[in-house]
Amino acid sequence: MARLVIVSNRVSVPTGRRVEAGGLTVVLRDGLRRADGLWFGWSGDFAETPGPAKVTTRGKMSYALLDLNQADYKGFYYGFANGSLWPLFHYRLGLVDWTSESYRAYRKVNRQFATELFKLLKPGDQVWVHDYQLIPLGEELRKLGFKGVVGFYLHVPFPSGDIVEVLPAHAELGKALLAYDLIGVQTDRTHHDMLDFLERWIGAERDGHELIHEGRRIRTGVYRAAIDTLGFGREAAATVENPEVQSLQESLGGRTLMLGVERLDYTKGLPLRFAAYEHLLATHEEWLRKVIMLQIAPVSRGELAQYRALRSDLERATGRIAGRFAAPDWNPIRYVNQPVPRKVLSGYLRVAQVGLVTPLRDGMNLVAKEFVAAQDPENPGVLVLSRFAGAVEELGEGALLVNPLDIEQTAEAMRDALAMPLDERIDRWQRCMEPLRIWTARTWYDAFVHKLDEIAKEGNGLVAAA
Ligand code: ADP
Repeated sequence: MARLVIVSNRVSVPTGRRVEAGGLTVVLRDGLRRADGLWFGWSGDFAETPGPAKVTTRGKMSYALLDLNQADYKGFYYGFANGSLWPLFHYRLGLVDWTSESYRAYRKVNRQFATELFKLLKPGDQVWVHDYQLIPLGEELRKLGFKGVVGFYLHVPFPSGDIVEVLPAHAELGKALLAYDLIGVQTDRTHHDMLDFLERWIGAERDGHELIHEGRRIRTGVYRAAIDTLGFGREAAATVENPEVQSLQESLGGRTLMLGVERLDYTKGLPLRFAAYEHLLATHEEWLRKVIMLQIAPVSRGELAQYRALRSDLERATGRIAGRFAAPDWNPIRYVNQPVPRKVLSGYLRVAQVGLVTPLRDGMNLVAKEFVAAQDPENPGVLVLSRFAGAVEELGEGALLVNPLDIEQTAEAMRDALAMPLDERIDRWQRCMEPLRIWTARTWYDAFVHKLDEIAKEGNGLVAAA
């Protein structure tokens, strides 16, 4: 079996103290262990003049961690990746903060990643690059002479070419994508838009789901990010005994819990969700004193002004909702900025009767899947889901769908979810569970890695078939 090398901006090295990571990280780590693999990425540390990556071995797999120059990192991560690409890929043109300096830093850090990774690569290695921070990495590896199979997986949406072309570097990034042998994305919609962009804007020739460019064939496909559905469900059921979960349950005093959990990010639609909840309370008096909305949203990317502004907006909205509706013995809203351990989170999701997942745009949204997986099959809660989350392609039949911009519609969906009879809740939950039972994080990982292997066997146009 070929060695698999995963590259991502952040690498989660197990500390041995506790399982701190969740979701796809754990699946990648388990998979790499089976393949005696290597995980390459940023160490989390800065150095004035960074040296080669430091390699540590844990059991059967190795981690190679690279320090970065702080100014370069700022331009690469906050400047270009999160200041330009993140808003652009989430359809938020008005928030794109392009500067050539930050784009140069992005290219420089990608080159540095490639240079240090190349030193560790052996012939026959298969490389799997993750996400929008590292789009040019494959091209940089090619420039250095790496001929093995390199795949890229995008964890965020990819909008239509009309939006992408606004970015001054769109053609360079498009060409960089074509340096890969396999491009994987989250949804049919993203797949359609990316193929269209690479064909019409960048000039690749289309052959079904494959692209042909400079005599090479680039495979593309939809690999939906997923969770360990049954494992998460088992954990949620077991965690109901956890003191923190019990304490939340007791604090509700028999009231119904609506729960939202996400990073504090403007793509998640939180101010609109708060407004919809306020509208619900204003228009459905029967729910006053009977419902509590808990929003857990740990601060992320606090260095960026848009994220700080979002935080203040939500603090104001929380105060307004409490001020308008709270009674001495009831506060309608709880807003928590701390992260919650995954185990406890699964229990919270099970306690909630309504799961609120209303992003303005989201590549997939794993919380939606976790909410479904965490439910009690005999008494499941209801998912209120944005039409603009990638998860809608799998959960659209069972969830209550909303356009998050439509505050009245979201408020009505909240009400319908709160009042839904048990038989309909069970029916909807079963429809949500069906695809999640079949397609899990493990199938996601295996499908992508299997495809890399298949390409290696067929030959990628640079080296003869293995
Ligand atoms: P994104 O990748 O944009 O943050 P996803 O919903 O796809 O959004 O994935 C987020 C992951 O982080 C999920 O596995 C979720 O359980 C976890 N997560 C989100 N918010 C919290 C929180 N407050 N505490 C712990 N884990 C969280």
